[in-house]
Amino acid sequence: MKIVVTVKHVPDTNAEKVLDPQTKRLNRSAVENVLNPFDEYAIEEALRLRDASPDTTRVTIASIAPRSGLEILRKALAMGADDAVLLSDDAIAGSDTMATAYLLALLLRHIGCDLVLSGTQSTDALNGIVPAALAELLGVPCLTFAKKLMVEGNSVEIQRETEDGYARVRAPMPALVSVTKGINEPRYPTLKGIMGAKKKEIRTLSLTDIGADPTRVGAAGSKTVVESFAAAGARAKGTVITATDPREGARRIFDFLIERKAL
Ligand SMILES: Cc1cc2nc3c(=O)[nH]c(=O)nc-3n(C[C@H](O)[C@H](O)[C@H](O)COP(=O)(O)OP(=O)(O)OC[C@H]3O[C@@H](n4cnc5c(N)ncnc54)[C@H](O)[C@@H]3O)c2cc1C
Repeated sequence: MKIVVTVKHVPDTNAEKVLDPQTKRLNRSAVENVLNPFDEYAIEEALRLRDASPDTTRVTIASIAPRSGLEILRKALAMGADDAVLLSDDAIAGSDTMATAYLLALLLRHIGCDLVLSGTQSTDALNGIVPAALAELLGVPCLTFAKKLMVEGNSVEIQRETEDGYARVRAPMPALVSVTKGINEPRYPTLKGIMGAKKKEIRTLSLTDIGADPTRVGAAGSKTVVESFAAAGARAKGTVITATDPREGARRIFDFLIERKAL
């Protein structure tokens, strides 16, 4: 079984993100970039499946990113993935969700896979759309929000997280599964893993290699346009309720919440 994990190169979650007023894009060179934390759960799940059947399972990491994205691929390889592929081309800058999914679909067809694992969302753009769009373009079933994943023969079954429990969903492979944070605890790369990652293969491909139509990528090939953006307004100061009598304090908090229709 060939498992491909899609991973995104994102600005460090704790870094202050800066939007470029000219391009209306995130200035990625101004901050440290990391492996999308949500994707670490997908990598871990793929590694667990591989570790259960090491002779018949292979884990490949796939990403669309600038060449600096090689760094995050090394981290995924250090965690234990077998190899990685990076799609990098200057013409990709400015691609929206659909253009990204289009490219990922071509990339995954190019390298081939039985099971695609992804995070539920990225920490920078937070669209949470790429997995469903990718599955649609690949023409494979899409199982989202998995908090548990099992592969049996040629099918995959998940426990899909819901508000009050979970639903069991099964599909034949090839299929795509997006995993939630609750599914596992991602491993840290060991020193042996970090050293071993240096010898693992990372293929870098361009738009031509995967046969992409250049008019469908980048800002020009994207149907969505960022017209403008503005900083969020400063948060209003909170209201402090002080009372010497606890009953009186409770009553005033109650009134406050009622007034704002919170109760
Ligand atoms: C300032 C700014 C404006 C933007 N404006 C728009 C806009 O107008 N319209 C629009 O559609 N998008 C816009 N984007 C989003 C941007 O182009 C996204 O990076 C892209 O659309 C992917 O969506 P996402 O990051 O939300 O992925 P999600 O759908 O949240 O990602 C889910 C999963 O998909 C996979 N994935 C996502 N991206 C990649 C990748 N590059 N390589 C490999 N796997 C990946 C990962 O497994 C990830 O966990 C904007 C971003 C910024 C910073």
